[in-house]
Amino acid sequence: MELNFFCNIKYILSLSVLTDSTNTHPMYRAIFYLLINTCPLFNATPLAAQVSVPENVSSEVFSIYKNIHQNPELGKKEYKTSKLVKDKLTEFGYTDFFTVNSLPTAVVAILDTKREGAVIALRSELDGRPGHEKTNLEYASKDSATMHSCGHDAHTSCLLGAAKLLMQHKSELKGKIIFIFQPAEETPGGADDIVNEGVLKKLGIQKMFTLHSVDGLAVGSVTIESGYFLAGSNYFTINMNGTGSHAAAPYLGNDIPVVCSKLVTELTSFPSRNTDVSMRPCVISVAYIATGDIKASNVLPDNATIKGTIRAYDPIDSAYDGQPSLRNLINSKVDRFAKDYQVTCNTTITTGSPSTYNDPDLFNTVTPKLKSIFSGNVIADNYRGLFSEDFSYYTKEVPCLYFGLGIQKDNLGNQNIHTNLFSVHPDAFKYGIELYCDLAFISNKK
Ligand SMILES: [Zn+2]
Ligand SMILES: [Zn+2]
Repeated sequence: MELNFFCNIKYILSLSVLTDSTNTHPMYRAIFYLLINTCPLFNATPLAAQVSVPENVSSEVFSIYKNIHQNPELGKKEYKTSKLVKDKLTEFGYTDFFTVNSLPTAVVAILDTKREGAVIALRSELDGRPGHEKTNLEYASKDSATMHSCGHDAHTSCLLGAAKLLMQHKSELKGKIIFIFQPAEETPGGADDIVNEGVLKKLGIQKMFTLHSVDGLAVGSVTIESGYFLAGSNYFTINMNGTGSHAAAPYLGNDIPVVCSKLVTELTSFPSRNTDVSMRPCVISVAYIATGDIKASNVLPDNATIKGTIRAYDPIDSAYDGQPSLRNLINSKVDRFAKDYQVTCNTTITTGSPSTYNDPDLFNTVTPKLKSIFSGNVIADNYRGLFSEDFSYYTKEVPCLYFGLGIQKDNLGNQNIHTNLFSVHPDAFKYGIELYCDLAFISNKK
């Protein structure tokens, strides 16, 4: 208690000096920082975590990670990974598994303390992504077309480590802890299948937690925000048709490559020129362009295809503050464009994951407690991004929190997620295991 008190005092003093920095002489500020950062009283270690992660568990988890990392599998085909997870859980003493009929590779294990208490779920993902790993790590993917470029192998390994430790600490817990190893986060039908099958309701899950690797975030740090912080994903395809011509006489046709390029520019600049993006964050990116069927240099083709994504917090079919829905705005824009350039455009927009929401009440309850027990650094800085995540389906059902996990140290963990250079530093694992355990203890400590 005393140690936390002095840590809090240090924080308040630091804040007051920082906020008053214009009036404080630099010399006094330097003396202050020297005092506060060297005095043992102010730099006492915060209260120890309920579960400290032993070195042998971290190293076991890292070898599990290397195994999964070398053998990545795509969504709904995670057969070997699923078996490995279930075998490990069985080895750790788990006997109670819930079958998800629509997802044969899902592994759902139940730790039932047989004591009255909350039913919480901790979730990780099983699937890899298409891609050829180029990290040159000795444990790089053995599959030249598939790799774990989103860190799901790290999350699953950390959750296994937490499952092992929480089973060992079962006598200190109450209620139930459900471990959900979810397939197909990267492709349609992972979290939404679990929700649609009624798994949360059948198991009585009252709240859920997860973590996700954040490239560039230092090992030992975790991030958490309140409210909406990740966007919903939507995907579009536009098929454009017109008249082709010889490349030497573009005036005889629609010059589809030029018209298609103009539409790409119009679409990508669309959100900031047609909506108030400060109130209604949205980005449209075109990721694929193809024109014509003949790859000739002297023919202007008569068709083109554009594909891309629309990321926004608002559901694509919801009107907002007197403005039409994003779907209607985009459809009208493309229709006007087609008319102006005398081509036809057939637009299809499909919806992906909704936006992800961290429950503010759960955030307010859990964050201060986590700050007092987590051995690393908890950053609650209102980060928002236009990435998307299928954990959002759970956030529509029960109060949830989604944490960012620091994975960067030295020259690992600093390359972007989803790239073929993505990696996770080995020192990140003990913090991931600890975070899952801390969240279980905060909710279900006896
Ligand atoms: Zn991903
Ligand atoms: Zn991911």
